[in-house]
Amino acid sequence: MEFSSRMRQRHLRLTGDRRELYPHSLQFYLEPPTECISLVEFESFAVDRLRLLKVVENLGVSYVRNTDTYKSKLEGELRKLKFPYRALAEDDYEARRKDHISHFILRLAYCQSEDLRRWFLQQEMDLFRYRFSQLSGSLMQKFLDHVNLSFEAISEEVKNELANELCASTPGLTLPKVKEQMFYKIGLADAVDLFRTRRVFVKDGFAYVPFKEIDAIVLNNYRIKLSKALALTARSLPSIQTDERLQPLLSHLSHSYVGPDYSVQKNAGKISLDQIDPLSVKSFPLCMRQLHKALRDSHHLRHGGRMQYGLFLKGIGLTLEQALEFWKKEFIRGKVDADKFDKGYAYSIRHSYGKEGRRTDYTPYSCMKIIMSNPPSQGDYHGCPFRHSDPELLKQKLQSYKIPPSGITQILELVKGMHFQLACQKYFELTHDVDDIGFSLNHPNQYFTESQRLLSGGRELKKESSNLGNSQPKNNSQESMNSNSTPTTSNTTADAELEELEAYFTED
Ligand code: SF4
Repeated sequence: MEFSSRMRQRHLRLTGDRRELYPHSLQFYLEPPTECISLVEFESFAVDRLRLLKVVENLGVSYVRNTDTYKSKLEGELRKLKFPYRALAEDDYEARRKDHISHFILRLAYCQSEDLRRWFLQQEMDLFRYRFSQLSGSLMQKFLDHVNLSFEAISEEVKNELANELCASTPGLTLPKVKEQMFYKIGLADAVDLFRTRRVFVKDGFAYVPFKEIDAIVLNNYRIKLSKALALTARSLPSIQTDERLQPLLSHLSHSYVGPDYSVQKNAGKISLDQIDPLSVKSFPLCMRQLHKALRDSHHLRHGGRMQYGLFLKGIGLTLEQALEFWKKEFIRGKVDADKFDKGYAYSIRHSYGKEGRRTDYTPYSCMKIIMSNPPSQGDYHGCPFRHSDPELLKQKLQSYKIPPSGITQILELVKGMHFQLACQKYFELTHDVDDIGFSLNHPNQYFTESQRLLSGGRELKKESSNLGNSQPKNNSQESMNSNSTPTTSNTTADAELEELEAYFTED
């Protein structure tokens, strides 16, 4: 893929039509794109795919996969973002092209660490599973041939010979059903999952797989290919990182979230310092509640904590004057005297409000940034407790906040599955006594805003019985996420400048 920033038109295409590259709506993404694309298109494709994968993640936790609701919600999102959504659609070249290119861009962004790779792989697998399930029998066959997975169907004669064994070894099949089904003879290596879970008949190194189980084979094959590809991409990262146009974009994408921009101080002056203590209990997400408590307890926060918490407070409405007063009052109760505060810390606070240095108005951190970068070490309180706390400590903390045991179990399950933001959403539901938060959480300031809106009766949330993970639900998070969101991946300059600010904050 080559990139050009010379042309500034939105979604500009630099290469002509190359329809022959995409004979199917579904892809294994074996070949990277070779066409020249503009940086504008690069970024817009990447943001849309990230948005799609986040929806896939949310749906996967909120609904049973393969249910009608799950499928219709996912199809709705694919349509809205203009990705291929129906295998039979003939004229979806643009959608196929976007699907192909955007997958490879995110592959670049999400190969950078084990956590990112795992998340990306999981969402791409779920997306593929849904799309594959939408193929008709003939399209499925065509697709399998296309990706060199053309399995040999056994003859009626062989099937009759093996009927009893096939019936005994394949769960859910009766003899008449065996007669109706097509069976494929597949090398054991391709059917490991089915073999391991004892769902197929095995003979002479071959598994006899019923047609309805073919998707497991295809998915396994796709998983192996994608996982290898991610590892290979990670190895070639150093050369990509030397590209000064791409590196900031990619690193921003992997820390990115798709949501409102909280850099604008539209709330400035809306809260008083006296409100911070009660607000920290009622409306702060766990990360900020933890930072606030640590600050009140020890009258100090190290620089990671000051950055994360200071910008959050700015986002919820603390003016510069209030911030100076807030931090000073607290710090001088500890080991810092007023003079030291004025000379060192005050400068950095003014800097974060854009009153010093390059005068950049700094943006509060998103969940992805908090989760993915600068993990806390001993003595630090920043980070995301769902990501960075030991599960036992997290459990104790949740108990101390009076979260009911069943809720704690659900949260810990989500944490175990690495769904940190969904765990935080669950925490929101439990602390606000609602069963559907009605938005997709991407940002601590979004958490605060939604909490305040809810507590002030600004909107109604329907109370329904909670059934996380296997429910027929209620969640309309996608609509909510996309209706009020502004992609913010072009903040790379601000990010670079943030490094400068961090330098001022390094004093512990
Ligand atoms: Fe904070 Fe986001 Fe983690 Fe929630 S998910 S605790 S808002 S970083």
